[in-house]
Amino acid sequence: MTITMPQKMTEKKTGQKTAQLIRKWVNPQVCGLQAYHVPSPRGMIKLDAMENPYQMPDEVRAQWLEVLNSVAINRYPDPGCAQLKATIRSTLAVPDNCGLMLGNGSDELIQAIAMLVGGPGRVFMAPTPTFSMYRQISLATATEFAGVPLNEDFSLQGDTLLGAIDRLQPACVFLAIPNNPTGNAFDSGIIEEVVQAAPGLVVIDEAYHAFCGKSWLDQIASHDNTLLLRTMSKSGLAGLRLGMLMAGTEWIDQLEKLRLPYNINALTQASVTFLLGHHHLMETQAQKIIDDRATLFKNLAAIEGVTAYPSETNFILFRLAQSAPDVFDGLVKRGVLVKNLHGSDPMLDNCLRVTVSSTSENTLFVEALASTLVAM
Ligand code: PMP
Repeated sequence: MTITMPQKMTEKKTGQKTAQLIRKWVNPQVCGLQAYHVPSPRGMIKLDAMENPYQMPDEVRAQWLEVLNSVAINRYPDPGCAQLKATIRSTLAVPDNCGLMLGNGSDELIQAIAMLVGGPGRVFMAPTPTFSMYRQISLATATEFAGVPLNEDFSLQGDTLLGAIDRLQPACVFLAIPNNPTGNAFDSGIIEEVVQAAPGLVVIDEAYHAFCGKSWLDQIASHDNTLLLRTMSKSGLAGLRLGMLMAGTEWIDQLEKLRLPYNINALTQASVTFLLGHHHLMETQAQKIIDDRATLFKNLAAIEGVTAYPSETNFILFRLAQSAPDVFDGLVKRGVLVKNLHGSDPMLDNCLRVTVSSTSENTLFVEALASTLVAM
Protein backbone atom coordinates (compact mmCIF):
# COMPACT_ATOMS: atom_id res chain seq x y z
CA MET A 1 0.00 0.00 0.00
CA THR A 2 1.37 3.44 -0.86
CA ILE A 3 0.72 6.26 1.55
CA THR A 4 0.55 9.62 -0.18
CA MET A 5 1.44 12.57 2.00
CA PRO A 6 -0.46 15.82 1.45
CA GLN A 7 1.59 17.94 -0.99
CA LYS A 8 2.04 20.84 1.48
CA MET A 9 3.62 18.53 4.06
CA THR A 10 6.05 17.03 1.52
CA GLU A 11 7.07 20.50 0.44
CA LYS A 12 7.67 21.56 4.03
CA LYS A 13 9.78 18.46 4.71
CA THR A 14 11.77 18.94 1.51
CA GLY A 15 12.30 22.60 2.41
CA GLN A 16 13.61 21.68 5.85
CA LYS A 17 15.90 19.03 4.41
CA THR A 18 17.22 21.44 1.80
CA ALA A 19 17.93 24.03 4.48
CA GLN A 20 19.83 21.40 6.49
CA LEU A 21 21.81 20.33 3.47
CA ILE A 22 22.66 23.94 2.64
CA ARG A 23 23.82 24.57 6.20
CA LYS A 24 25.96 21.46 6.09
CA TRP A 25 27.49 21.67 2.63
CA VAL A 26 27.46 25.16 1.15
CA ASN A 27 30.86 26.76 1.68
CA PRO A 28 30.57 29.09 4.69
CA GLN A 29 31.95 32.07 2.79
CA VAL A 30 29.16 31.69 0.19
CA CYS A 31 26.44 31.46 2.88
CA GLY A 32 27.40 34.94 4.05
CA LEU A 33 27.21 36.51 0.58
CA GLN A 34 24.28 38.17 -1.16
CA ALA A 35 23.65 37.64 -4.89
CA TYR A 36 24.44 40.68 -7.06
CA HIS A 37 21.10 42.42 -7.36
CA VAL A 38 20.10 43.96 -10.68
CA PRO A 39 16.77 45.82 -10.46
CA SER A 40 14.27 45.38 -13.30
CA PRO A 41 14.16 48.51 -15.48
CA ARG A 42 10.41 47.92 -16.24
CA GLY A 43 10.23 50.29 -19.19
CA MET A 44 12.13 53.06 -17.39
CA ILE A 45 14.91 55.23 -18.79
CA LYS A 46 17.79 52.99 -17.82
CA LEU A 47 20.70 54.99 -16.45
CA ASP A 48 21.95 52.59 -13.78
CA ALA A 49 24.48 50.32 -15.50
CA MET A 50 26.80 52.44 -17.67
CA GLU A 51 25.41 51.09 -20.92
CA ASN A 52 25.99 52.86 -24.21
CA PRO A 53 22.64 54.25 -25.44
CA TYR A 54 23.49 53.89 -29.13
CA GLN A 55 22.98 51.08 -31.63
CA MET A 56 25.09 50.58 -34.74
CA PRO A 57 23.66 52.19 -37.93
CA ASP A 58 21.01 50.16 -39.79
CA GLU A 59 23.30 49.12 -42.68
CA VAL A 60 25.92 47.78 -40.24
CA ARG A 61 23.21 45.92 -38.29
CA ALA A 62 21.96 44.36 -41.53
CA GLN A 63 25.47 43.10 -42.37
CA TRP A 64 25.90 41.86 -38.81
CA LEU A 65 22.68 39.81 -39.08
CA GLU A 66 24.11 38.18 -42.21
CA VAL A 67 27.25 37.28 -40.26
CA LEU A 68 25.14 35.77 -37.48
CA ASN A 69 23.15 33.81 -40.02
CA SER A 70 26.29 31.99 -41.12
CA VAL A 71 27.30 30.91 -37.59
CA ALA A 72 27.08 27.14 -37.10
CA ILE A 73 25.37 27.07 -33.71
CA ASN A 74 25.18 23.27 -33.80
CA ARG A 75 28.98 23.27 -33.30
CA TYR A 76 30.94 24.31 -30.24
CA PRO A 77 32.63 27.67 -30.69
CA ASP A 78 36.36 27.96 -31.35
CA PRO A 79 37.76 27.39 -27.83
CA GLY A 80 40.82 29.51 -28.61
CA CYS A 81 38.85 32.38 -30.25
CA ALA A 82 41.65 32.65 -32.84
CA GLN A 83 39.95 35.05 -35.25
CA LEU A 84 38.48 37.23 -32.54
CA LYS A 85 41.80 37.46 -30.71
CA ALA A 86 43.64 38.44 -33.90
CA THR A 87 41.04 41.17 -34.52
CA ILE A 88 41.30 42.44 -30.94
CA ARG A 89 45.10 42.49 -31.12
CA SER A 90 45.16 44.58 -34.28
CA THR A 91 42.23 46.87 -33.42
CA LEU A 92 43.26 47.65 -29.84
CA ALA A 93 47.00 47.59 -30.68
CA VAL A 94 47.84 44.95 -28.06
CA PRO A 95 51.66 44.82 -27.87
CA ASP A 96 53.19 41.62 -29.30
CA ASN A 97 54.82 40.78 -25.98
CA CYS A 98 51.43 40.77 -24.21
CA GLY A 99 49.34 37.64 -23.83
CA LEU A 100 45.55 37.91 -24.26
CA MET A 101 42.79 35.99 -22.51
CA LEU A 102 39.06 36.46 -23.12
CA GLY A 103 36.26 36.18 -20.60
CA ASN A 104 32.47 36.11 -20.55
CA GLY A 105 32.61 39.72 -19.40
CA SER A 106 35.58 41.05 -17.44
CA ASP A 107 33.78 39.83 -14.29
CA GLU A 108 34.71 36.32 -15.32
CA LEU A 109 38.36 37.31 -15.70
CA ILE A 110 38.38 38.85 -12.22
CA GLN A 111 37.01 35.54 -10.97
CA ALA A 112 39.80 33.62 -12.77
CA ILE A 113 42.43 35.88 -11.19
CA ALA A 114 40.87 35.29 -7.78
CA MET A 115 40.89 31.52 -8.32
CA LEU A 116 44.53 31.71 -9.37
CA VAL A 117 46.03 33.70 -6.51
CA GLY A 118 43.28 33.94 -3.85
CA GLY A 119 42.10 31.53 -1.20
CA PRO A 120 42.15 31.05 2.59
CA GLY A 121 44.89 32.99 4.35
CA ARG A 122 45.35 35.39 1.42
CA VAL A 123 44.33 39.02 1.05
CA PHE A 124 43.02 41.03 -1.89
CA MET A 125 43.14 44.81 -1.66
CA ALA A 126 41.55 47.76 -3.43
CA PRO A 127 41.09 51.45 -2.71
CA THR A 128 37.45 51.94 -1.70
CA PRO A 129 34.80 52.81 -2.70
CA THR A 130 35.31 50.82 -5.88
CA PHE A 131 33.73 48.21 -8.15
CA SER A 132 31.76 45.91 -5.84
CA MET A 133 32.71 42.67 -7.60
CA TYR A 134 36.31 42.86 -6.33
CA ARG A 135 35.00 42.33 -2.82
CA GLN A 136 32.26 39.89 -3.83
CA ILE A 137 34.64 37.65 -5.78
CA SER A 138 37.30 37.87 -3.05
CA LEU A 139 34.83 36.62 -0.47
CA ALA A 140 33.42 33.96 -2.80
CA THR A 141 36.92 32.53 -3.18
CA ALA A 142 37.52 32.61 0.61
CA THR A 143 40.02 35.44 0.21
CA GLU A 144 40.06 38.28 2.74
CA PHE A 145 39.22 41.66 1.20
CA ALA A 146 40.98 44.78 2.51
CA GLY A 147 39.51 48.09 1.35
CA VAL A 148 41.77 51.13 1.76
CA PRO A 149 39.69 54.33 1.87
CA LEU A 150 40.23 57.00 -0.77
CA ASN A 151 40.62 60.65 0.14
CA GLU A 152 37.47 62.76 0.39
CA ASP A 153 37.95 63.89 -3.21
CA PHE A 154 38.31 60.18 -4.15
CA SER A 155 42.01 60.48 -4.97
CA LEU A 156 44.36 57.74 -3.73
CA GLN A 157 45.80 58.00 -0.23
CA GLY A 158 49.21 56.95 -1.48
CA ASP A 159 50.96 56.51 1.87
CA THR A 160 48.04 54.66 3.46
CA LEU A 161 47.76 52.33 0.49
CA LEU A 162 51.50 51.63 0.42
CA GLY A 163 51.46 51.09 4.20
CA ALA A 164 48.58 48.60 3.88
CA ILE A 165 50.41 46.75 1.10
CA ASP A 166 53.48 46.49 3.30
CA ARG A 167 51.45 45.29 6.29
CA LEU A 168 48.99 42.90 4.63
CA GLN A 169 51.11 41.60 1.70
CA PRO A 170 48.12 41.26 -0.65
CA ALA A 171 48.09 38.54 -3.29
CA CYS A 172 46.42 41.04 -5.59
CA VAL A 173 45.65 44.78 -5.63
CA PHE A 174 42.72 45.84 -7.84
CA LEU A 175 42.85 49.35 -9.29
CA ALA A 176 39.93 50.48 -11.45
CA ILE A 177 41.28 53.36 -13.55
CA PRO A 178 39.12 55.37 -13.92
CA ASN A 179 37.34 54.15 -10.84
CA ASN A 180 33.74 52.99 -10.54
CA PRO A 181 31.66 54.49 -8.89
CA THR A 182 33.70 57.64 -8.28
CA GLY A 183 34.53 58.36 -11.94
CA ASN A 184 38.07 59.71 -11.45
CA ALA A 185 41.38 58.30 -12.68
CA PHE A 186 44.11 57.77 -10.07
CA ASP A 187 47.51 59.47 -9.96
CA SER A 188 49.96 57.63 -12.26
CA GLY A 189 52.94 58.26 -9.94
CA ILE A 190 51.21 56.53 -7.01
CA ILE A 191 50.19 53.63 -9.23
CA GLU A 192 53.83 53.17 -10.28
CA GLU A 193 54.75 53.03 -6.58
CA VAL A 194 51.99 50.50 -5.91
CA VAL A 195 53.20 48.31 -8.79
CA GLN A 196 56.76 48.47 -7.41
CA ALA A 197 55.73 47.81 -3.80
CA ALA A 198 53.12 45.08 -4.38
CA PRO A 199 54.40 41.62 -3.44
CA GLY A 200 51.77 39.97 -5.66
CA LEU A 201 49.65 40.95 -8.65
CA VAL A 202 48.34 44.39 -9.54
CA VAL A 203 45.25 44.40 -11.76
CA ILE A 204 44.62 47.63 -13.64
CA ASP A 205 40.99 47.56 -14.69
CA GLU A 206 40.41 49.92 -17.62
CA ALA A 207 36.68 49.20 -18.05
CA TYR A 208 36.12 52.92 -18.80
CA HIS A 209 39.13 53.41 -21.04
CA ALA A 210 36.97 54.55 -23.98
CA PHE A 211 36.00 57.72 -22.08
CA CYS A 212 39.36 58.48 -20.54
CA GLY A 213 42.03 58.27 -23.22
CA LYS A 214 44.94 57.26 -20.97
CA SER A 215 46.03 53.63 -20.78
CA TRP A 216 48.61 51.34 -19.17
CA LEU A 217 48.46 48.88 -22.06
CA ASP A 218 51.91 49.69 -23.46
CA GLN A 219 53.55 49.21 -20.06
CA ILE A 220 51.88 45.97 -18.99
CA ALA A 221 54.35 43.42 -20.30
CA SER A 222 57.33 45.35 -18.92
CA HIS A 223 56.06 44.77 -15.35
CA ASP A 224 56.30 41.23 -14.00
CA ASN A 225 53.26 41.55 -11.75
CA THR A 226 50.76 43.71 -13.65
CA LEU A 227 47.61 42.58 -15.49
CA LEU A 228 45.28 44.80 -17.51
CA LEU A 229 41.52 44.39 -17.93
CA ARG A 230 39.27 45.87 -20.61
CA THR A 231 35.66 45.21 -21.56
CA MET A 232 33.44 45.68 -24.62
CA SER A 233 30.49 46.35 -22.30
CA LYS A 234 30.85 50.13 -22.17
CA SER A 235 31.37 50.45 -25.93
CA GLY A 236 27.88 49.39 -26.95
CA LEU A 237 28.26 45.60 -26.69
CA ALA A 238 27.24 44.91 -23.07
CA GLY A 239 24.79 42.23 -24.21
CA LEU A 240 27.51 40.20 -25.90
CA ARG A 241 29.58 39.80 -22.70
CA LEU A 242 33.21 40.07 -23.68
CA GLY A 243 36.08 40.99 -21.38
CA MET A 244 39.78 41.04 -22.21
CA LEU A 245 42.82 40.43 -20.06
CA MET A 246 46.26 41.48 -21.24
CA ALA A 247 49.38 40.39 -19.37
CA GLY A 248 52.76 38.74 -19.71
CA THR A 249 52.30 35.36 -21.43
CA GLU A 250 53.44 33.43 -18.33
CA TRP A 251 50.46 34.80 -16.37
CA ILE A 252 48.08 34.08 -19.24
CA ASP A 253 49.36 30.48 -19.36
CA GLN A 254 48.51 30.09 -15.67
CA LEU A 255 45.08 31.69 -16.01
CA GLU A 256 44.17 29.64 -19.08
CA LYS A 257 44.17 26.55 -16.84
CA LEU A 258 41.15 28.01 -15.07
CA ARG A 259 39.18 29.13 -18.12
CA LEU A 260 36.23 26.92 -19.05
CA PRO A 261 36.79 25.59 -22.58
CA TYR A 262 34.01 27.37 -24.51
CA ASN A 263 33.48 30.45 -22.41
CA ILE A 264 33.04 32.81 -25.39
CA ASN A 265 30.00 31.67 -27.34
CA ALA A 266 29.93 31.48 -31.15
CA LEU A 267 27.54 34.44 -31.58
CA THR A 268 29.74 36.69 -29.45
CA GLN A 269 32.90 35.61 -31.29
CA ALA A 270 31.36 36.27 -34.70
CA SER A 271 29.66 39.51 -33.62
CA VAL A 272 32.67 41.16 -31.97
CA THR A 273 35.01 40.07 -34.79
CA PHE A 274 32.64 41.77 -37.24
CA LEU A 275 31.79 44.81 -35.14
CA LEU A 276 35.42 45.64 -34.36
CA GLY A 277 35.70 46.25 -38.10
CA HIS A 278 33.51 49.28 -37.31
CA HIS A 279 35.54 50.35 -34.31
CA HIS A 280 35.64 53.93 -35.55
CA LEU A 281 31.84 54.08 -35.03
CA MET A 282 32.28 53.02 -31.41
CA GLU A 283 34.92 55.71 -30.98
CA THR A 284 32.57 58.32 -32.45
CA GLN A 285 29.85 57.21 -30.00
CA ALA A 286 32.33 57.41 -27.10
CA GLN A 287 33.32 60.94 -28.15
CA LYS A 288 29.65 61.99 -28.24
CA ILE A 289 29.22 60.57 -24.72
CA ILE A 290 32.31 62.49 -23.56
CA ASP A 291 30.86 65.71 -25.02
CA ASP A 292 27.45 65.07 -23.45
CA ARG A 293 29.14 64.27 -20.12
CA ALA A 294 30.39 67.88 -19.96
CA THR A 295 26.87 69.24 -20.48
CA LEU A 296 25.33 66.80 -18.00
CA PHE A 297 27.97 67.68 -15.40
CA LYS A 298 27.28 71.40 -15.83
CA ASN A 299 23.51 70.91 -15.59
CA LEU A 300 23.80 68.67 -12.54
CA ALA A 301 26.18 71.00 -10.75
CA ALA A 302 23.76 73.90 -11.39
CA ILE A 303 21.01 72.22 -9.34
CA GLU A 304 20.89 73.43 -5.75
CA GLY A 305 21.71 70.69 -3.25
CA VAL A 306 23.64 68.59 -5.79
CA THR A 307 27.40 68.07 -5.73
CA ALA A 308 28.61 66.40 -8.93
CA TYR A 309 32.04 64.74 -9.03
CA PRO A 310 34.25 65.16 -12.13
CA SER A 311 34.27 62.06 -14.31
CA GLU A 312 36.54 60.43 -16.87
CA THR A 313 33.96 57.68 -17.47
CA ASN A 314 30.48 57.36 -18.98
CA PHE A 315 28.77 58.05 -15.65
CA ILE A 316 28.66 60.79 -13.05
CA LEU A 317 28.58 60.31 -9.29
CA PHE A 318 26.67 62.98 -7.39
CA ARG A 319 25.86 63.69 -3.76
CA LEU A 320 22.60 65.14 -2.52
CA ALA A 321 21.86 67.45 0.35
CA GLN A 322 18.65 65.38 0.81
CA SER A 323 18.17 61.66 1.35
CA ALA A 324 19.51 59.79 -1.70
CA PRO A 325 17.14 56.81 -1.24
CA ASP A 326 14.16 59.23 -1.28
CA VAL A 327 15.50 61.01 -4.37
CA PHE A 328 16.11 57.60 -5.99
CA ASP A 329 12.45 56.68 -5.34
CA GLY A 330 11.32 60.05 -6.72
CA LEU A 331 13.29 59.39 -9.91
CA VAL A 332 11.80 55.89 -10.23
CA LYS A 333 8.31 57.42 -9.90
CA ARG A 334 9.23 59.70 -12.79
CA GLY A 335 10.40 56.75 -14.88
CA VAL A 336 14.17 57.12 -14.43
CA LEU A 337 16.41 54.37 -13.02
CA VAL A 338 19.82 55.39 -11.63
CA LYS A 339 22.08 53.58 -9.15
CA ASN A 340 21.57 54.23 -5.47
CA LEU A 341 24.94 54.00 -3.69
CA HIS A 342 23.78 55.22 -0.29
CA GLY A 343 24.75 52.62 2.30
CA SER A 344 27.22 50.80 0.08
CA ASP A 345 30.27 52.59 1.54
CA PRO A 346 30.64 55.23 4.28
CA MET A 347 32.10 57.64 1.70
CA LEU A 348 29.01 57.39 -0.51
CA ASP A 349 26.40 58.73 1.89
CA ASN A 350 23.52 60.22 -0.09
CA CYS A 351 25.23 59.47 -3.39
CA LEU A 352 23.61 58.40 -6.65
CA ARG A 353 25.31 57.46 -9.91
CA VAL A 354 23.90 58.21 -13.34
CA THR A 355 25.00 56.88 -16.73
CA VAL A 356 25.74 59.51 -19.38
CA SER A 357 23.21 58.58 -22.05
CA SER A 358 21.86 60.24 -25.20
CA THR A 359 21.38 64.03 -25.12
CA SER A 360 17.59 63.63 -24.81
CA GLU A 361 17.74 61.05 -21.99
CA ASN A 362 20.26 63.19 -20.12
CA THR A 363 17.85 66.12 -20.36
CA LEU A 364 14.91 63.99 -19.17
CA PHE A 365 17.01 62.82 -16.23
CA VAL A 366 18.00 66.36 -15.19
CA GLU A 367 14.36 67.48 -15.42
CA ALA A 368 13.21 64.47 -13.39
CA LEU A 369 15.87 65.16 -10.74
CA ALA A 370 15.01 68.86 -10.53
CA SER A 371 11.28 68.13 -10.16
CA THR A 372 11.95 65.39 -7.59
CA LEU A 373 13.98 67.81 -5.47
CA VAL A 374 11.37 70.56 -5.74
CA ALA A 375 8.65 68.12 -4.62
CA MET A 376 10.57 67.02 -1.50
N1 PMP B 1 35.33 46.55 -14.01
C1 PMP B 1 34.70 47.67 -13.66
C2 PMP B 1 35.49 48.77 -13.00
C3 PMP B 1 33.33 47.82 -13.89
O1 PMP B 1 32.73 48.95 -13.50
C4 PMP B 1 32.62 46.78 -14.50
C5 PMP B 1 31.14 46.85 -14.81
N2 PMP B 1 30.37 47.68 -14.15
C6 PMP B 1 33.31 45.62 -14.83
C7 PMP B 1 34.66 45.54 -14.58
C8 PMP B 1 32.62 44.42 -15.42
O2 PMP B 1 32.36 44.57 -16.76
P1 PMP B 1 31.86 43.38 -17.66
O3 PMP B 1 30.56 43.84 -18.21
O4 PMP B 1 32.91 43.23 -18.72
O5 PMP B 1 31.76 42.15 -16.83
